[in-house]
Amino acid sequence: MNRFDYLRAATLDEAIAALSADPGAKVIAGGTNLVDLMKYDVAKPSRVVDITRLPLDAIEERADGGLRLGALATNADTAYDPRVKARYPLLASAILAGASGQLRNAATTGGNLLQRTRCYYFYDPGVACNKREPGSGCPAIGGVNRIHAVLGASEQCIAVHPSDMCVAMAALDARINVEGPQGPRVIAFEDFHRLPGDSPHIDTTLQPGEVITSVDLPPDDFGPHYTYLKLRDRLSYAFALVSVAAALKIERGCIAEVRLALGGLAHKPWRDRHGEASLVGKIPDRASFQAAADQILAGAVGQGHNDFKIDLARRAIVRALAQAAAGTPQSQSVKRVN
Ligand SMILES: Cc1cc2nc3c(=O)[nH]c(=O)nc-3n(C[C@H](O)[C@H](O)[C@H](O)COP(=O)(O)OP(=O)(O)OC[C@H]3O[C@@H](n4cnc5c(N)ncnc54)[C@H](O)[C@@H]3O)c2cc1C
Repeated sequence: MNRFDYLRAATLDEAIAALSADPGAKVIAGGTNLVDLMKYDVAKPSRVVDITRLPLDAIEERADGGLRLGALATNADTAYDPRVKARYPLLASAILAGASGQLRNAATTGGNLLQRTRCYYFYDPGVACNKREPGSGCPAIGGVNRIHAVLGASEQCIAVHPSDMCVAMAALDARINVEGPQGPRVIAFEDFHRLPGDSPHIDTTLQPGEVITSVDLPPDDFGPHYTYLKLRDRLSYAFALVSVAAALKIERGCIAEVRLALGGLAHKPWRDRHGEASLVGKIPDRASFQAAADQILAGAVGQGHNDFKIDLARRAIVRALAQAAAGTPQSQSVKRVN
């Protein structure tokens, strides 16, 4: 691990000033991802700015009927908050599908949004990686790529975004509040994470010096018809091979609104608005779910070892939509898929 300075920020302004003054500085929140990356010599911050003493851990009602999740609210506090459980069960379910109890007690909203890919090449400083070392190459292409992207990848990078929480937030159309040297701004969830293109080392649209302060959940909660389906190599903690956050509004026997976000398939939580729109007005049955899944995966490209993900994703979309329509969400404590 490299040497670094440590600053425990007493105010948000102090944190922003410290980050703005030193491009090598990094925020630390729960530390469950950053410290790992520092130990592997993947992240080498010159300064670590500890924000854990800032008052950013509240979960609060919003005037519009939604909820505001503080950037330092832990994943456990969020998933077990009675308002989140009752009004955003899709989010609670997705968070509980991720990591382990101990990790969720430490991991925060802001840190989860900014956790980095689990691509094995990214974690190994002994090999090239365009995400870690721009211009060095991508050994996952043509290499071992079982966990890698089939949608939205580029010739520079085929890494996937690992978060479960973010897939639910994408489906819920959450908004991310940040503060930085230029003042506060709000980022629509869809605009926060980036596709790799030719700059895969940049994961998000967060600007230098900016700190995430909270995430807003809009009032529309899709309570009765939702599911978070996570398919992985083992039932105890593991990252998703494919995950689906599905939420429906059903009126007079037809689909009135659809939210569908996919995890484990792309560099960011994947939304396909055309695929969603294709379901509106349809009867919520297997044929319409299958047609939408085929449409969403039509442009998917496998890299060899991960070819199986394309068919797995098709089946997962159909199953998740069927579970959501029937109001039988996937249990994250039982986990076994029936
Ligand atoms: C063994 C293991 C298994 C896991 N399994 C899963 C899983 O199945 N699903 C899943 O979704 N996740 C999983 N995770 C990842 C875990 O959820 C993340 O490590 C965690 O959410 C990161 O949150 P943190 O608060 O610890 O972030 P930190 O490690 O403190 O920070 C992560 C990044 O976010 C930045 N950051 C943090 N807060 C802010 C802020 N407010 N503003 C600006 N920048 C900020 C930091 O600078 C850093 O770059 C797993 C982790 C481990 C170690």
